[in-house]
Amino acid sequence: MKNSTYDLIVVGSGIMGTFHAIHAARLGKSVLLTEKDQYPVNATVRNFGQVVTSGISSDMFAHAMRTAELYKEIQQEFDISVRNNGTVYISSDDDELQLTHELKERMDASGHGAVLLSAKKCLAQWPALKKEYCNGGIFFPQELSVEPDKLIYRVIEYAIGKYPNLTYKPGTAVVDCAVAGDRVEIATAYRQKFTAEKVIICNGGEFKLLFADLFKDSGIMLRKLQMVRTIPMPEVALEGNILTGLSIRRYESFQECPSFAKLTTPERYEELEKWGIHILFKKALDGSIIIGDSHEYADVNHTDDLGFGISSYINELMLKEAQNIVNFDVSKIASSWAGFYPQHSSKHVVEYDIDDRIHIRTAIGGKGMTCAAGYAEASVMKIYN
Ligand SMILES: Cc1cc2nc3c(=O)[nH]c(=O)nc-3n(C[C@H](O)[C@H](O)[C@H](O)COP(=O)(O)OP(=O)(O)OC[C@H]3O[C@@H](n4cnc5c(N)ncnc54)[C@H](O)[C@@H]3O)c2cc1C
Repeated sequence: MKNSTYDLIVVGSGIMGTFHAIHAARLGKSVLLTEKDQYPVNATVRNFGQVVTSGISSDMFAHAMRTAELYKEIQQEFDISVRNNGTVYISSDDDELQLTHELKERMDASGHGAVLLSAKKCLAQWPALKKEYCNGGIFFPQELSVEPDKLIYRVIEYAIGKYPNLTYKPGTAVVDCAVAGDRVEIATAYRQKFTAEKVIICNGGEFKLLFADLFKDSGIMLRKLQMVRTIPMPEVALEGNILTGLSIRRYESFQECPSFAKLTTPERYEELEKWGIHILFKKALDGSIIIGDSHEYADVNHTDDLGFGISSYINELMLKEAQNIVNFDVSKIASSWAGFYPQHSSKHVVEYDIDDRIHIRTAIGGKGMTCAAGYAEASVMKIYN
């Protein structure tokens, strides 16, 4: 019979759980990483794969910087799909342009240097952009992107190969978790039992299986995002993380700039902002272009109300705005999907510590691909003092 007792059990193998497991394994702990699905299929694989350190607020910035370092470090040993092709924010009016100038000052001061680009330079570097849209940009050449449909599977493969003290059990839903004396016991849906000194639960947007009573009053909101992917268009010159005017008006780092408070919403953006739409582009390795996204919200007790369908109206709004920005035909869609992530209105990550043995770490919001690896390192260090 295989080992059923560990130093640490991590529940959930999205980006948060997997990196908590890796950091504990690096400390020499024997770790069991469980995943309810056959392989992770939630937020960690449904996103853009934009590692946009420059978009992160000052509170989480150090975690974002560390995440990029960790990705690069692992990529040198094992191909986890990391590319260094930079991030650009394209402004479309003077208010957005002003915010890019203010962000440059802040980022330069924090050692994360940026380059301001004229409209002409943006159009030369990304010829897929329309000149009617672009009035300038801010470029972070050092930033990374990853392939969301590959990264987590490769990171797990890397971790299992690298750390013999890390065991991975997919298809293993944890349905109970309780302190028993000086250990924690978990039970799976297959009625297996495992024990450990500690358990870290990285449940992402799953709030019904464990500690539902805690989450009920947590103030967490689940967000539903719509995404589309074009057919492969390798000829389209749109490399890197491409963020646009509405992203400048939305991202945390711009919210910390002095002019943000004075920003008003022009009429052309009103319907888009109503649906939480901002337009980002990310060209995948096969040449397809991921375009998104929108945001609909439900509190943690009513997540089913978000539904499973894709609204054609929202997709049409997104694609119409995307077509204002780029000159290739965005209507050549190969697929469309919804992704969900939890977020708290005032906490960057929701953390619960129960009896100093059960630690819940969830709701990293829309920045998990940018911050989770670094955040998990700090979190594991704190849990193990
Ligand atoms: C459409 C979309 C676009 C995004 N774009 C970006 C981006 O470009 N850049 C960026 O930084 N971030 C982005 N994000 C945010 C990012 O994807 C998330 O912050 C991150 O993936 C959250 O990771 P997680 O591990 O907390 O959650 P998840 O990925 O949801 O993983 C949680 C895992 O836990 C498992 N689990 C839950 N309960 C149990 C249980 N009881 N037993 C066993 N297993 C369990 C689930 O099956 C799941 O696999 C985006 C998100 C979405 C939805």
